[in-house]
Amino acid sequence: MWIVLATRWKRWARMRYPHVWIIGFREGEAVPQAVWQESLSRLKERLSATDLGCWVQAIHPVAIRDRRLYGEVPSVMHLEQIRNRVQRNIAGVLEELLGPGAELVLSVNRLRVQPVVEPRLAPDRPRCSYSFESFVVGESNSLAHASAREVVDHPGVTYNPLFLYGGVGLGKTHLASAVAHSLGKSHRLRIALLSAEAFANDLIRALLSGSIDAFRLRVRQLDVLIVDDVQFLAGKERMQEEFFHTFNALHAAGKQIVLASDQAPRSISNLAERLQSRFESGLTAEIRLPEAVLRLAILTSKAKEVGFDLPLEVARWVASKIVSSVRELEGALHRLIAGCRCSRRSLDVGFAKEILRPILRNAPPRTVEQVQQLVAERFYLSQEDLVHRGRTSRVRLPRQVAMYLSRKGTKATYAEIAAGFGGRDHSTIMHAVKCVEARRHEEPEFAALVDELAEKLAAG
Ligand code: ADP
Ligand code: MG
Repeated sequence: MWIVLATRWKRWARMRYPHVWIIGFREGEAVPQAVWQESLSRLKERLSATDLGCWVQAIHPVAIRDRRLYGEVPSVMHLEQIRNRVQRNIAGVLEELLGPGAELVLSVNRLRVQPVVEPRLAPDRPRCSYSFESFVVGESNSLAHASAREVVDHPGVTYNPLFLYGGVGLGKTHLASAVAHSLGKSHRLRIALLSAEAFANDLIRALLSGSIDAFRLRVRQLDVLIVDDVQFLAGKERMQEEFFHTFNALHAAGKQIVLASDQAPRSISNLAERLQSRFESGLTAEIRLPEAVLRLAILTSKAKEVGFDLPLEVARWVASKIVSSVRELEGALHRLIAGCRCSRRSLDVGFAKEILRPILRNAPPRTVEQVQQLVAERFYLSQEDLVHRGRTSRVRLPRQVAMYLSRKGTKATYAEIAAGFGGRDHSTIMHAVKCVEARRHEEPEFAALVDELAEKLAAG
């Protein structure tokens, strides 16, 4: 197809060449695509492949006015990442092209019905960070990972919807994005990856502008809908209703739906029962806190990704101290890298302690989950074993120890601990605490074991 850019005689040109796609623009108004292409080629030299592939290439230029390039991005997540990571570089390039004071103005004002932009990376550059290749798999995330892979291999067939849930910074957005990127690469599908908030914003805009039918049409044309942070829908009835119909329409047509949330469907309060049951109708996969081995593997893999020489004993030490999220592990690694850049000292555990002291001292209080993880590791069990109902003697004692440590080593109430152990009665927790206390008095070895665990927990 030919595209002609006409300055003055757009209407004449359209009549004269009806088979040619004519785009008109007023004189003095630059063509956004051309400026953007030039910006991209200049940005290539200044940004990492990750920033370019994941974020910058997702910007769709819409217009240029008064030295402002207006662009659209597919989600609020894109908006935030672009603001934090690359906005300044982009503004620099735009100033070169459009003159001083030029800037980029972004909005998430449309559900972009288009395949996710595939990062085109030079072979020697690192890959887009939100890919399956950069996702390290361990016990705590293996179900989520395997099911996300399955969705890529058989979209709309095996797990529909796939509902990923887990605490903050554990890799939900990473996996959801990896699904979008892989599907965008291997199949010709219309994919939307957006946060529930972006969905809600689009919906509100459509309602206000009377274009709700167009909104529905756009959404229902999709082959794959991936919605992150669906807990955002809690308490928003109108959004839930629209989402319910969207869900049903896509699901009935065999289109793949992937959802991510910080809680399981049943635990999202103020979420309509009918949505909860829809969300549970495929596969729900939890991502739990990363276990020690995984924490170590993630740290070494991230260090390798950025070419940082992280001694194994330092990696081990960091992995033993930072247990609550992968995001915090990454934060610690970045601190170490920055700390080493500013100093000639070689990195050992002592130096790492100094660099990370500020973040370790403010470590948040321990959680019931951390206790479970610690105890499970010590007794060679899985966290599931501790939480769920099995009553064999192999799990009974470790479970009681975990309940005891949850009471003594965290700020959780009996009721919260009971909820953390599969919704048991809080009297069960009180009973466990008594049993462990009694046994501590009777058996010094047992007391030593419990103390050792309590110390480990306190050290984080
Ligand atoms: P969530 O959406 O669950 O809050 P994210 O997906 O944003 O968490 O993950 C936080 C950070 O940790 C991201 O930079 C992500 O790449 C990284 N991350 C999480 N899990 C893993 C993993 N298993 N392997 C590699 N990186 C991970
Ligand atoms: Mg997230």
